[in-house]
Amino acid sequence: MQDSLFRVELLPVRHGDCILLSWGPSQSPRHLLIDGGPHTAYETLRQRLRGLPAAQRRLELLVVSHIDNDHIGGIVRLLGDPEPGLEIEELWFNGWEQLSQPLHGFGQPPQAQGQPAGERSPMEGHYLAHRSARRGVPLNRTFDGKAICLAKGLEPPRIELDGGLSLTLLSPSIDKLKDLREAWDGKLTKARFDPLDRDAAERRLQADRRYRGAESAGLSPGLLHDLAHMAPVLDEAVANGSSIALLAEYQGVRCALLADAHMRVVEDAIRRIARSRGETRLRLDAVKLSHHGSKGNLSDAFLRLIDCRRFLVSTDGSQFGHPDDEAIARVLALAPKPVHLVFNHRCDRTRGWEDQGLQHTLGYEAHYPATEGMGAVVDMLAGIPA
Ligand SMILES: [Zn+2]
Repeated sequence: MQDSLFRVELLPVRHGDCILLSWGPSQSPRHLLIDGGPHTAYETLRQRLRGLPAAQRRLELLVVSHIDNDHIGGIVRLLGDPEPGLEIEELWFNGWEQLSQPLHGFGQPPQAQGQPAGERSPMEGHYLAHRSARRGVPLNRTFDGKAICLAKGLEPPRIELDGGLSLTLLSPSIDKLKDLREAWDGKLTKARFDPLDRDAAERRLQADRRYRGAESAGLSPGLLHDLAHMAPVLDEAVANGSSIALLAEYQGVRCALLADAHMRVVEDAIRRIARSRGETRLRLDAVKLSHHGSKGNLSDAFLRLIDCRRFLVSTDGSQFGHPDDEAIARVLALAPKPVHLVFNHRCDRTRGWEDQGLQHTLGYEAHYPATEGMGAVVDMLAGIPA
Protein backbone atom coordinates (compact mmCIF):
# COMPACT_ATOMS: atom_id res chain seq x y z
CA MET A 1 0.00 0.00 0.00
CA GLN A 2 1.33 3.37 -0.94
CA ASP A 3 0.64 5.86 1.79
CA SER A 4 2.71 8.75 0.55
CA LEU A 5 2.49 10.59 -2.72
CA PHE A 6 4.51 12.85 -4.95
CA ARG A 7 2.35 14.16 -7.74
CA VAL A 8 3.01 16.62 -10.54
CA GLU A 9 -0.04 18.09 -12.25
CA LEU A 10 0.17 20.15 -15.42
CA LEU A 11 -3.10 22.03 -15.44
CA PRO A 12 -4.62 22.60 -18.91
CA VAL A 13 -4.04 26.35 -19.13
CA ARG A 14 -3.79 26.69 -22.91
CA HIS A 15 -0.38 27.90 -24.07
CA GLY A 16 0.88 28.50 -20.51
CA ASP A 17 2.34 26.76 -17.48
CA CYS A 18 0.47 26.07 -14.25
CA ILE A 19 1.98 23.24 -12.23
CA LEU A 20 0.69 21.90 -8.93
CA LEU A 21 3.08 19.74 -6.93
CA SER A 22 1.71 17.65 -4.07
CA TRP A 23 3.73 15.56 -1.63
CA GLY A 24 3.40 13.85 1.73
CA PRO A 25 0.77 11.50 3.17
CA SER A 26 -1.79 10.55 0.50
CA GLN A 27 -4.67 11.71 2.67
CA SER A 28 -3.16 15.06 3.63
CA PRO A 29 -0.52 16.14 1.13
CA ARG A 30 1.16 19.54 1.01
CA HIS A 31 1.08 21.70 -2.11
CA LEU A 32 3.33 23.95 -4.12
CA LEU A 33 2.14 25.94 -7.13
CA ILE A 34 4.44 27.01 -9.94
CA ASP A 35 2.90 29.65 -12.23
CA GLY A 36 -0.76 30.30 -12.99
CA GLY A 37 -1.11 30.17 -16.77
CA PRO A 38 -2.38 33.17 -18.76
CA HIS A 39 -5.05 35.40 -17.20
CA THR A 40 -7.59 34.02 -19.70
CA ALA A 41 -7.26 30.48 -18.27
CA TYR A 42 -7.54 31.52 -14.60
CA GLU A 43 -10.84 29.69 -14.16
CA THR A 44 -9.00 26.37 -14.59
CA LEU A 45 -6.67 27.14 -11.70
CA ARG A 46 -9.50 28.51 -9.60
CA GLN A 47 -11.57 25.34 -10.02
CA ARG A 48 -8.59 23.13 -9.19
CA LEU A 49 -7.88 25.03 -5.97
CA ARG A 50 -11.55 25.00 -5.01
CA GLY A 51 -11.45 21.23 -5.49
CA LEU A 52 -8.88 20.87 -2.72
CA PRO A 53 -10.32 19.87 0.66
CA ALA A 54 -10.69 22.99 2.84
CA ALA A 55 -7.89 21.85 5.16
CA GLN A 56 -5.52 21.60 2.18
CA ARG A 57 -6.17 25.04 0.71
CA ARG A 58 -2.72 26.14 1.61
CA LEU A 59 0.41 26.52 -0.48
CA GLU A 60 3.74 25.89 1.22
CA LEU A 61 5.17 27.94 -1.60
CA LEU A 62 4.01 29.80 -4.68
CA VAL A 63 6.60 30.29 -7.42
CA VAL A 64 6.14 32.71 -10.31
CA SER A 65 8.92 31.74 -12.67
CA HIS A 66 8.95 34.96 -14.71
CA ILE A 67 6.83 37.83 -15.99
CA ASP A 68 5.40 36.38 -19.20
CA ASN A 69 1.61 36.49 -19.18
CA ASP A 70 1.30 32.75 -19.83
CA HIS A 71 2.94 32.18 -16.41
CA ILE A 72 2.10 35.25 -14.32
CA GLY A 73 -1.40 36.22 -15.55
CA GLY A 74 -3.35 33.62 -13.58
CA ILE A 75 -1.42 34.42 -10.40
CA VAL A 76 -2.18 38.14 -10.59
CA ARG A 77 -5.84 37.15 -10.76
CA LEU A 78 -5.49 34.55 -7.99
CA LEU A 79 -3.98 37.09 -5.62
CA GLY A 80 -6.87 39.46 -6.26
CA ASP A 81 -9.50 36.75 -5.76
CA PRO A 82 -10.55 36.00 -2.17
CA GLU A 83 -12.70 33.10 -3.32
CA PRO A 84 -10.58 29.95 -3.22
CA GLY A 85 -9.71 30.92 0.39
CA LEU A 86 -6.08 30.06 -0.07
CA GLU A 87 -3.28 30.46 2.48
CA ILE A 88 0.07 31.21 0.85
CA GLU A 89 3.11 30.74 3.05
CA GLU A 90 5.68 32.33 0.76
CA LEU A 91 6.06 33.65 -2.78
CA TRP A 92 9.18 33.28 -4.89
CA PHE A 93 9.36 35.89 -7.62
CA ASN A 94 11.99 38.22 -9.03
CA GLY A 95 10.21 41.57 -9.22
CA TRP A 96 11.45 45.08 -9.72
CA GLU A 97 12.23 45.56 -6.06
CA GLN A 98 14.52 42.52 -6.07
CA LEU A 99 16.09 43.35 -9.43
CA SER A 100 16.94 46.88 -8.40
CA GLN A 101 19.12 45.68 -5.51
CA PRO A 102 22.67 44.43 -5.99
CA LEU A 103 22.57 40.91 -7.41
CA HIS A 104 24.85 38.43 -5.66
CA GLY A 105 23.11 35.12 -6.19
CA PHE A 106 22.93 32.18 -3.84
CA GLY A 107 25.08 29.11 -3.47
CA GLN A 108 24.90 25.95 -1.49
CA PRO A 109 23.94 26.05 1.28
CA PRO A 110 21.83 29.24 1.28
CA GLN A 111 22.88 31.20 4.34
CA ALA A 112 20.26 31.43 7.01
CA GLN A 113 20.71 35.17 7.48
CA GLY A 114 20.32 35.66 3.77
CA GLN A 115 23.81 37.03 3.31
CA PRO A 116 24.73 36.76 -0.33
CA ALA A 117 27.34 34.13 -0.99
CA GLY A 118 28.85 35.45 -3.62
CA GLU A 119 2.45 39.28 -24.13
CA ARG A 120 5.14 39.90 -21.59
CA SER A 121 4.96 42.98 -19.65
CA PRO A 122 6.85 44.23 -16.63
CA MET A 123 3.62 45.89 -15.56
CA GLU A 124 2.29 42.52 -14.48
CA GLY A 125 5.37 42.14 -12.32
CA HIS A 126 4.31 45.30 -10.50
CA TYR A 127 0.74 44.04 -10.19
CA LEU A 128 2.00 40.81 -8.66
CA ALA A 129 4.23 42.56 -6.13
CA HIS A 130 1.41 44.93 -5.25
CA ARG A 131 -1.21 42.24 -4.75
CA SER A 132 1.08 39.88 -2.84
CA ALA A 133 2.09 42.71 -0.51
CA ARG A 134 -1.55 43.64 0.03
CA ARG A 135 -2.32 40.02 0.90
CA GLY A 136 0.65 39.89 3.24
CA VAL A 137 2.42 37.08 1.39
CA PRO A 138 6.14 37.12 2.22
CA LEU A 139 8.22 37.57 -0.93
CA ASN A 140 11.46 35.57 -1.27
CA ARG A 141 11.66 35.15 2.52
CA THR A 142 13.97 32.14 2.14
CA PHE A 143 16.36 34.42 0.26
CA ASP A 144 16.05 37.32 2.70
CA GLY A 145 13.83 39.21 0.26
CA LYS A 146 16.56 39.32 -2.36
CA ALA A 147 16.51 38.24 -5.99
CA ILE A 148 16.55 34.46 -6.45
CA CYS A 149 19.46 33.53 -8.68
CA LEU A 150 22.51 31.31 -8.89
CA ALA A 151 25.82 32.60 -7.61
CA LYS A 152 28.72 32.42 -10.04
CA GLY A 153 30.91 29.37 -9.55
CA LEU A 154 28.99 27.92 -6.60
CA GLU A 155 26.83 24.85 -6.14
CA PRO A 156 23.15 25.63 -6.77
CA PRO A 157 21.31 26.24 -3.49
CA ARG A 158 19.04 23.48 -2.19
CA ILE A 159 16.07 24.41 -0.03
CA GLU A 160 14.12 21.96 2.11
CA LEU A 161 10.40 22.56 2.43
CA ASP A 162 8.30 21.14 5.26
CA GLY A 163 7.19 17.58 4.63
CA GLY A 164 10.34 16.39 2.86
CA LEU A 165 10.28 18.14 -0.53
CA SER A 166 13.56 19.71 -1.56
CA LEU A 167 14.08 22.29 -4.28
CA THR A 168 17.40 22.96 -5.99
CA LEU A 169 17.69 26.10 -8.09
CA LEU A 170 18.57 25.51 -11.78
CA SER A 171 17.98 29.04 -13.18
CA PRO A 172 18.31 32.05 -13.49
CA SER A 173 21.91 33.28 -13.39
CA ILE A 174 22.89 36.78 -12.28
CA ASP A 175 23.58 37.74 -15.90
CA LYS A 176 20.06 36.75 -17.01
CA LEU A 177 18.57 38.94 -14.28
CA LYS A 178 20.83 41.83 -15.27
CA ASP A 179 19.51 41.53 -18.82
CA LEU A 180 15.96 41.58 -17.46
CA ARG A 181 16.68 44.59 -15.25
CA GLU A 182 18.01 46.55 -18.19
CA ALA A 183 15.03 45.71 -20.41
CA TRP A 184 12.54 46.33 -17.60
CA ASP A 185 14.09 49.68 -16.75
CA GLY A 186 13.77 50.79 -20.36
CA LYS A 187 10.10 49.81 -20.47
CA LEU A 188 9.33 51.67 -17.24
CA THR A 189 10.66 54.87 -18.69
CA LYS A 190 8.62 54.40 -21.85
CA ALA A 191 5.46 53.57 -19.87
CA ARG A 192 6.03 56.57 -17.59
CA PHE A 193 5.54 54.29 -14.61
CA ASP A 194 7.22 55.06 -11.32
CA PRO A 195 7.84 51.78 -9.50
CA LEU A 196 8.31 53.64 -6.21
CA ASP A 197 4.84 55.18 -6.40
CA ARG A 198 2.88 52.64 -4.34
CA ASP A 199 -0.50 53.75 -5.60
CA ALA A 200 0.51 53.61 -9.23
CA ALA A 201 0.24 49.82 -9.50
CA GLU A 202 -3.20 49.92 -7.88
CA ARG A 203 -4.40 52.64 -10.27
CA ARG A 204 -3.17 50.65 -13.26
CA LEU A 205 -4.76 47.46 -11.93
CA GLN A 206 -8.08 49.24 -11.53
CA ALA A 207 -7.88 50.31 -15.15
CA ASP A 208 -6.71 46.94 -16.46
CA ARG A 209 -9.78 44.86 -17.19
CA ARG A 210 -7.87 41.61 -17.28
CA TYR A 211 -7.31 41.76 -13.55
CA ARG A 212 -10.22 43.62 -12.04
CA GLY A 213 -12.23 40.69 -10.83
CA ALA A 214 -12.49 36.94 -10.99
CA GLU A 215 -15.17 37.20 -13.69
CA SER A 216 -13.38 39.42 -16.14
CA ALA A 217 -11.54 37.44 -18.77
CA GLY A 218 -11.09 37.11 -22.46
CA LEU A 219 -10.94 39.78 -25.05
CA SER A 220 -12.96 42.92 -24.66
CA PRO A 221 -12.70 46.42 -26.08
CA GLY A 222 -11.24 47.47 -22.74
CA LEU A 223 -8.63 44.76 -22.82
CA LEU A 224 -7.64 45.59 -26.37
CA HIS A 225 -7.27 49.19 -25.32
CA ASP A 226 -5.13 48.18 -22.36
CA LEU A 227 -2.97 45.96 -24.49
CA ALA A 228 -2.51 48.65 -27.08
CA HIS A 229 -1.40 51.12 -24.44
CA MET A 230 0.74 48.87 -22.36
CA ALA A 231 4.49 49.20 -22.45
CA PRO A 232 5.90 47.46 -25.49
CA VAL A 233 6.66 43.85 -24.78
CA LEU A 234 10.03 42.77 -23.53
CA ASP A 235 12.24 40.70 -25.72
CA GLU A 236 10.92 37.19 -25.30
CA ALA A 237 14.38 35.77 -24.80
CA VAL A 238 15.17 38.19 -21.99
CA ALA A 239 12.03 37.37 -20.01
CA ASN A 240 12.41 33.63 -20.57
CA GLY A 241 16.04 33.69 -19.52
CA SER A 242 15.05 35.16 -16.16
CA SER A 243 12.95 32.05 -15.38
CA ILE A 244 13.20 30.45 -11.97
CA ALA A 245 13.72 26.75 -12.76
CA LEU A 246 13.81 24.07 -10.06
CA LEU A 247 14.73 20.49 -9.37
CA ALA A 248 12.07 19.08 -7.04
CA GLU A 249 12.89 15.93 -5.05
CA TYR A 250 10.84 13.79 -2.71
CA GLN A 251 11.92 10.43 -1.32
CA GLY A 252 14.72 10.28 -3.86
CA VAL A 253 12.41 10.85 -6.83
CA ARG A 254 13.38 13.82 -8.97
CA CYS A 255 11.54 16.14 -11.33
CA ALA A 256 13.14 19.08 -13.15
CA LEU A 257 10.73 21.95 -13.78
CA LEU A 258 12.38 24.20 -16.31
CA ALA A 259 9.82 27.03 -16.78
CA ASP A 260 10.98 28.87 -19.93
CA ALA A 261 14.64 28.86 -18.88
CA HIS A 262 17.65 29.07 -21.16
CA MET A 263 19.62 25.89 -21.66
CA ARG A 264 23.12 27.19 -20.96
CA VAL A 265 22.16 28.21 -17.42
CA VAL A 266 20.32 24.95 -16.74
CA GLU A 267 23.16 22.87 -18.22
CA ASP A 268 25.66 24.54 -15.91
CA ALA A 269 23.51 23.89 -12.84
CA ILE A 270 22.82 20.26 -13.84
CA ARG A 271 26.55 19.65 -14.42
CA ARG A 272 27.38 20.90 -10.92
CA ILE A 273 24.59 18.92 -9.26
CA ALA A 274 25.58 15.70 -11.07
CA ARG A 275 29.21 16.17 -10.08
CA SER A 276 28.39 16.83 -6.42
CA ARG A 277 26.27 13.68 -6.32
CA GLY A 278 28.82 11.53 -8.08
CA GLU A 279 26.62 10.81 -11.11
CA THR A 280 27.97 10.86 -14.67
CA ARG A 281 24.54 11.84 -15.97
CA LEU A 282 22.06 13.28 -13.51
CA ARG A 283 19.29 10.75 -12.94
CA LEU A 284 15.90 12.40 -13.34
CA ASP A 285 12.46 10.81 -13.14
CA ALA A 286 10.79 13.56 -15.17
CA VAL A 287 11.63 16.80 -16.94
CA LYS A 288 9.06 19.50 -17.70
CA LEU A 289 10.54 20.76 -20.93
CA SER A 290 11.52 24.41 -21.05
CA HIS A 291 9.33 26.91 -22.91
CA HIS A 292 6.54 24.47 -23.77
CA GLY A 293 8.84 22.29 -25.85
CA SER A 294 10.35 25.04 -27.97
CA LYS A 295 13.28 23.94 -30.13
CA GLY A 296 15.20 27.00 -28.95
CA ASN A 297 15.02 25.85 -25.33
CA LEU A 298 16.25 22.29 -25.64
CA SER A 299 19.85 21.37 -26.34
CA ASP A 300 21.63 18.14 -27.11
CA ALA A 301 24.10 19.07 -24.38
CA PHE A 302 21.30 19.15 -21.80
CA LEU A 303 19.92 15.80 -22.96
CA ARG A 304 23.41 14.28 -22.68
CA LEU A 305 23.81 15.59 -19.12
CA ILE A 306 20.71 13.80 -17.85
CA ASP A 307 19.49 10.23 -17.57
CA CYS A 308 15.73 10.60 -18.01
CA ARG A 309 12.98 8.76 -19.85
CA ARG A 310 9.93 10.91 -19.05
CA PHE A 311 9.28 14.35 -20.52
CA LEU A 312 6.35 16.61 -19.72
CA VAL A 313 5.00 19.17 -22.17
CA SER A 314 2.66 21.99 -21.10
CA THR A 315 0.86 23.75 -23.95
CA ASP A 316 -2.16 23.53 -26.25
CA GLY A 317 -0.09 24.74 -29.16
CA SER A 318 -1.91 28.07 -29.43
CA GLN A 319 -0.07 31.38 -29.71
CA PHE A 320 3.42 30.01 -30.33
CA GLY A 321 2.80 26.64 -31.97
CA HIS A 322 4.69 24.68 -29.32
CA PRO A 323 5.89 22.02 -28.91
CA ASP A 324 8.23 22.06 -31.89
CA ASP A 325 8.60 18.73 -33.65
CA GLU A 326 12.36 19.32 -33.66
CA ALA A 327 12.44 19.43 -29.85
CA ILE A 328 10.48 16.20 -29.43
CA ALA A 329 12.59 14.54 -32.10
CA ARG A 330 15.73 15.56 -30.22
CA VAL A 331 14.37 13.99 -27.02
CA LEU A 332 13.57 10.78 -28.87
CA ALA A 333 17.01 10.67 -30.44
CA LEU A 334 19.02 11.18 -27.25
CA ALA A 335 17.02 9.91 -24.26
CA PRO A 336 17.21 6.27 -23.12
CA LYS A 337 14.30 4.11 -24.38
CA PRO A 338 11.47 3.67 -23.93
CA VAL A 339 10.72 7.38 -23.66
CA HIS A 340 7.44 8.59 -22.17
CA LEU A 341 5.99 11.82 -23.52
CA VAL A 342 3.30 13.36 -21.33
CA PHE A 343 1.14 16.08 -22.89
CA ASN A 344 -1.38 18.13 -20.90
CA HIS A 345 -3.44 18.93 -24.02
CA ARG A 346 -4.44 16.77 -26.97
CA CYS A 347 -4.20 19.36 -29.73
CA ASP A 348 -3.03 19.80 -33.29
CA ARG A 349 0.56 20.35 -32.16
CA THR A 350 0.71 17.22 -29.97
CA ARG A 351 -1.67 14.75 -31.66
CA GLY A 352 0.84 13.69 -34.29
CA TRP A 353 2.90 11.88 -31.65
CA GLU A 354 0.00 9.54 -30.96
CA ASP A 355 0.69 7.53 -34.13
CA GLN A 356 1.15 3.89 -33.07
CA GLY A 357 3.63 3.11 -35.82
CA LEU A 358 5.76 6.05 -34.83
CA GLN A 359 5.64 5.09 -31.15
CA HIS A 360 6.69 1.54 -31.97
CA THR A 361 9.45 2.48 -34.40
CA LEU A 362 10.96 5.26 -32.33
CA GLY A 363 10.54 3.52 -28.96
CA TYR A 364 8.29 5.84 -27.03
CA GLU A 365 4.83 6.06 -25.49
CA ALA A 366 2.72 9.21 -25.79
CA HIS A 367 0.30 10.04 -22.98
CA TYR A 368 -2.64 12.42 -23.28
CA PRO A 369 -5.45 13.51 -20.95
CA ALA A 370 -8.24 10.89 -21.00
CA THR A 371 -10.59 13.79 -21.68
CA GLU A 372 -9.45 17.13 -23.02
CA GLY A 373 -9.53 19.64 -20.17
CA MET A 374 -8.22 17.24 -17.51
CA GLY A 375 -4.59 18.20 -17.90
CA ALA A 376 -1.77 15.77 -17.08
CA VAL A 377 -1.30 14.12 -13.70
CA VAL A 378 1.94 12.28 -13.04
CA ASP A 379 2.25 9.99 -10.03
CA MET A 380 5.98 10.29 -9.51
CA LEU A 381 6.24 7.46 -6.94
CA ALA A 382 4.59 4.91 -9.23
CA GLY A 383 7.75 4.59 -11.29
CA ILE A 384 8.07 4.64 -15.07
CA PRO A 385 6.94 1.56 -17.01
CA ALA A 386 9.95 -0.14 -18.59
ZN1 LIG B 1 5.88 30.36 -21.32
